[in-house]
Amino acid sequence: MRKDDCIFCKIANGEIPSKTLYEDPEFRVILDLGPATKGHALILPKEHAGDLYELPEESAAKAMTLAQKIGKTMVQKLHCDGLNLVQNNGEAAGQTVRHFHLHLIPRYVNDGQSINWKPGKPSDEELEAIRKTIVQ
Ligand code: AMP
Ligand code: ZN
Repeated sequence: MRKDDCIFCKIANGEIPSKTLYEDPEFRVILDLGPATKGHALILPKEHAGDLYELPEESAAKAMTLAQKIGKTMVQKLHCDGLNLVQNNGEAAGQTVRHFHLHLIPRYVNDGQSINWKPGKPSDEELEAIRKTIVQ
């Protein structure tokens, strides 16, 4: 289903023009309008899913297959030195558009960008408690 008030539904389905790199019946891949680096792209499913949790399993698998194909093309055509896949779910994680999207961010030596976190230093007991919380 498409969501009437969702901008990425409109872009994915061609109702709003975009710089499209790839399209098939289920997905559109576009250039991000506020790119982190040259070639920053977004993989958008045409069916609305607000985030990863709402995305059907087959679409999640296909999004990763597309990331692999397009990532390889970026290496060949843009000669990027690296590639980050970023996928934000929820405001706390930085999601600003509530339609699942997978960022493909080509990286270049000294591109001045960073996708980093400050590493914590949990004890073995703390790690074990977290592990139990997740798996039990
Ligand atoms: P996120 O913070 O993960 O929700 O990422 C949203 C991304 O969508 C940002 O990188 C924006 O630059 C990008 N964006 C927002 N609106 C558009 C648009 N109309 N066309 C292309 N990219 C967009
Ligand atoms: Zn949508």
